[in-house]
Amino acid sequence: MKRTPISRKTPLKRGDSQLRRTPLARVSKKRARENRERKAMVRRLWPDMQPRCVVLECPRLADDVHEPLSRGRGGSITDPGNAVPICRPHHDELTFGEPEWAYEQGLKVHSWDARREAS
Ligand SMILES: [Zn+2]
Repeated sequence: MKRTPISRKTPLKRGDSQLRRTPLARVSKKRARENRERKAMVRRLWPDMQPRCVVLECPRLADDVHEPLSRGRGGSITDPGNAVPICRPHHDELTFGEPEWAYEQGLKVHSWDARREAS
């Protein structure tokens, strides 16, 4: 059986991704600026010591900085009031789940609660 090659209906032209010379930036300039601001903020807030995890009765030292009001809910990653030190196991629990204790301890905030506090 004779096969005919599949042909493109629209030919590739300059500007198509396969012909692009400069790769797309992995983070936008705005996001890169935010990330730099955040790094500086974290160094300012916790300059030389490793703080304890903020979760009640957690004995571990913090590995990460967590935002109780996430970016997806309108929070800022460069707001010192929205940054708490947390250990990796607890951070993972907050990131991949919705544990009740996180809301009780104010470590996760619903967007509607954040709006209520702001007004
Ligand atoms: Zn912890």
